[in-house]
Amino acid sequence: MDAVPIWFFLLSAGLFGLLFGSLANVIIWRVPRGESIIAPGSHCPSCESAIRWYDNIPVISWVILGARCRECGVRISARYPIVEAASGLLWLVAAATWGMSIQTLFGIGLFYLLLVLTLIDLDHMRLPNSIVAALGVIGVVGVTVAQVTGEPAVPLFVGRGLLDTPLAYAVSGVLVGGGISVAMAGSYALIRKSAGLGMGDIKLLAVLGLYFGPYVLMVLMIASLLGAVVGVVALRRQSGSARARIPFGPFLAAGALVVALWGPLVLDWYLRLAGVR
Ligand SMILES: [Zn+2]
Repeated sequence: MDAVPIWFFLLSAGLFGLLFGSLANVIIWRVPRGESIIAPGSHCPSCESAIRWYDNIPVISWVILGARCRECGVRISARYPIVEAASGLLWLVAAATWGMSIQTLFGIGLFYLLLVLTLIDLDHMRLPNSIVAALGVIGVVGVTVAQVTGEPAVPLFVGRGLLDTPLAYAVSGVLVGGGISVAMAGSYALIRKSAGLGMGDIKLLAVLGLYFGPYVLMVLMIASLLGAVVGVVALRRQSGSARARIPFGPFLAAGALVVALWGPLVLDWYLRLAGVR
């Protein structure tokens, strides 16, 4: 693999990310509606005409067509090219972070499905079981690969000492992620008589435990912090007592991204700040 120049590797990752970004848009639209991802092919949601391959090039087609359908001229949301660009960027970041290794594949799987979950949660206020399950299956495969071959895969980083095997680290992560969120959801339900964390969030946190081990706790803390900040801002903007529910999935995804890239650094910084180290 040393024969492949790093720039070529990174460029390929970014381009594949863009292409898969188109697929992400399809998944985001169809999975919550119970439609097939494969058939029929992409079509305009307004006039139903099939989208030709040359009108379906990530980001570029949207710009060339002036954000409109070629057939009926209906406006096409900027969200489509934004999701494609975000996918390309996430694949590139994963490739740059983990280099030419198996771990990059699992990092890409994690980032990609979190992007999909973020947008579905924003649209529908739920995290589909099928996608959370897919993330879980990829995670279990990664843990198995790491445990059997000794190559880093999933969890994305493994601690020292008691939990120094991928399997032990992942299992403790699932227990921490699932347990803490169940406890949090339970206490919210008791205090406010309304669920704070949804079942989808709980399942996602348990699955994220596979990827992060006990660092899943940091994912939850960062997500809660971001959620609280956005929640306060949203409340101030709203007049009257109408309180819009804010989906928690996007904050979990943001927390997961931060911990995947800088988790051990953040812990080190926090421990120094607390005077422990
Ligand atoms: Zn159209």
